[in-house]
Amino acid sequence: MEVHVNQIEKRSWIEINLSQLKANYLNYKKNLRHDADIMAVIKADAYGHGDVQVARVLSGCGVHLFAVSNIDEAIGLREAGIRGEILILGYTSPFYAKTLYDNELTQAIVSEEYAEALARTPYKIKCQFAIDTGMNRIGIDGDLPDECERIIRQYSQRLGLNGLFTHLCVADTDTEECQSFTWRQIHLFKAVADRVADLHLDYVHCCNSAAGLRYLNDDPVFENIGNIVRLGIMLYGLKPDDSNQLPEGIAPAITWKSAISQVKDVHPGETLGYGRTFKIERESRIATVTTGYADGLNRLLSNKGHVLIHGKKAPIVGRICMDQTLVDVTDIDHVAMGDKVVVIGRSGNLEYNADDMAAELDTIGYEILCNITKRVQRFYVNSNILL
Ligand SMILES: *Cc1c(COP(=O)(O)O)cnc(C)c1O
Repeated sequence: MEVHVNQIEKRSWIEINLSQLKANYLNYKKNLRHDADIMAVIKADAYGHGDVQVARVLSGCGVHLFAVSNIDEAIGLREAGIRGEILILGYTSPFYAKTLYDNELTQAIVSEEYAEALARTPYKIKCQFAIDTGMNRIGIDGDLPDECERIIRQYSQRLGLNGLFTHLCVADTDTEECQSFTWRQIHLFKAVADRVADLHLDYVHCCNSAAGLRYLNDDPVFENIGNIVRLGIMLYGLKPDDSNQLPEGIAPAITWKSAISQVKDVHPGETLGYGRTFKIERESRIATVTTGYADGLNRLLSNKGHVLIHGKKAPIVGRICMDQTLVDVTDIDHVAMGDKVVVIGRSGNLEYNADDMAAELDTIGYEILCNITKRVQRFYVNSNILL
């Protein structure tokens, strides 16, 4: 829904800045090798941003390669009219062979056994072999390139094979050990790709957000394997790892907002919320925020995290409830019912993004974004009306 931000009066909602999303795509691409193309990773509802909207915006920028995690996500995109390649990165039961085929979806092949199961269906499904080069999650064993070649050749006729890919598991980490592991993964993948180069597969790719910037260069190793980057987290303006630097112009596109339902004075000796975990020690103003853990605000932020109100930090006090959270606004002037709260995003000069929240929870921004639940309505805005 496109609306003016000032018209939004909800309990807990998200504003997604489509201009920023576009800028992230363009600024990322600018930093890539000139011949590289981008496959937009829009699994998990585009990391919580809304996969259909994100796919539409990117299609408008010329993106024609998408990746999702499962067949339901892929069908949702097709039903919304998204065209181009849609690669399903994870397992789909062979039971859905006809659906894969009818929707012209591209399925990742996770093993030889799985290739055989799909090949036995009456449908020549588009697919790409996952090569396992060290993550040990999915794929045929990249440590055995001859075996990979045999399997790929065997199924190249029986399936609609159009690509190969591998996934790098420490490309975001700077230590020497991680770098040498990543180069090893890249070389293993290259060895397999070279062996089947004569098949002229359309899509041969190995880079995620981090790897596209840190590894992909003019090294001849990337010949045939380096012209597509699967861009996920940086599209959404976050870092794969805390130690990473984002290219200029890339920033979060999401702002999670909420409202204040009540402000009250609470006196020394009183306690707050379930379990009475916060004891009031000074004359305090406590505001109730209309967002809770059922919206995706992690309960482990109780007595730990903060939100932003009027450009200032308001600490979360007491236990986060299912639908509501208490915050201390004693040091923030003029807080009143109906005021807006920034749970994630910018307020005044302060920013508190999903990576910042993740750091407090010892997790990653990816998880913070994915855990914002469906009842938090998404609104799409452009920067010109946000400013
Ligand atoms: C999720 C995923 C990506 C995107 O990774 P980011 O770190 O978000 O860029 C790329 N490839 C595969 C196989 C994935 O599962």
